[in-house]
Amino acid sequence: MPVGTLASVKGVSQDVLEDLGVEILLSNTYHLFLRPGVETVRRMGGLHRFMSWDRAILTDSGGFQVFSLTDLRKVSEEGVAFRSHLDGSSHFLSPEKAMEAQIGLGADIIMAFDECTEYPADAARARASMELTVRWAERCKNYFEEHKHDVPWALKESAELRSAGRPRAAVPTRSEATQALFGIVQGGMDPELRRESADRTIDIGFPGYAIGGLSVGEPRELTREIVLSTLEHLPSDQPRYLMGVGTPDEIAQYAQSGVDMMDCVLPTRAARHGLLFTSGGKVSIKQARYAEDESALDPACDCRVCLRYSRAYLRHLYASNELLAQVLNTVHNLHFYLATMRTVRAWIRAGRAPAAGVSQM
Ligand SMILES: [Zn+2]
Repeated sequence: MPVGTLASVKGVSQDVLEDLGVEILLSNTYHLFLRPGVETVRRMGGLHRFMSWDRAILTDSGGFQVFSLTDLRKVSEEGVAFRSHLDGSSHFLSPEKAMEAQIGLGADIIMAFDECTEYPADAARARASMELTVRWAERCKNYFEEHKHDVPWALKESAELRSAGRPRAAVPTRSEATQALFGIVQGGMDPELRRESADRTIDIGFPGYAIGGLSVGEPRELTREIVLSTLEHLPSDQPRYLMGVGTPDEIAQYAQSGVDMMDCVLPTRAARHGLLFTSGGKVSIKQARYAEDESALDPACDCRVCLRYSRAYLRHLYASNELLAQVLNTVHNLHFYLATMRTVRAWIRAGRAPAAGVSQM
């Protein structure tokens, strides 16, 4: 899932995302909650209609961002009081508030409000945090069950939306359609706590499960160990979502281990810094060595950037701080990630895995 923090994958328009084959985007509740505000998006018919995106959207709960505001937040049983990173204004997110916000935004998949346990955390702290996340998951589910029909696209008739002006087709007509609320497993870096978190979250009952609280500063090998041990305890016939991971090689490995969904800012953020993923390894396009390099960025890539432009041109755009540099770099990186996943799907369909990774990342 490419990340579209503010209902936008930075630098890339929705028609290009469609051409790239993006099937689902992630958007961040925290950022949309602050700007433009949930109520505005809800009145615009929900995120799909607001951003003109008929394909799937997942929103996170806002928890991860709120917990990242180390100096600006206060956690209690009830929820998290925090100050906006934009203007310092005071806000409060709780399981109920996070559900209300995500129902108002109207993504297809929404996430329980969890506490992302910091790293490192001692045993008592990791347990207390995991227990809090379980209690919050129950509150999320209760609120969601009571309010799931408040989702903007379930409240409106498709004919009404169509008559509102834009030629849109994919607005659900079934008013019984609801979002899917996923639970999140926490438990720090302790496999036993992770198992308990998985069991108790499954007991509450969700249509999909995420592994949260990773990529928080721990060594990569530990991430992998915790992912693999947690996966064992999650139902393989329901979506298993690993949050916030990873490099092209990592996503290929995790997918082959049984992870069904991943999101990461890496392809888009790295692109904006001139760091490009290719079949030959990472390319830092800003380097002078590419100044007169006429070859394609990645000769093995069939994206619209590699088919058309030279490394020399991409390097010039980046060095000149041209907006187009960010656009083209992002398009290539997204294509590379999506192509990686297409390759993995083909391996899975063929019932075999390659001996080596898909790139030299
Ligand atoms: Zn390319």
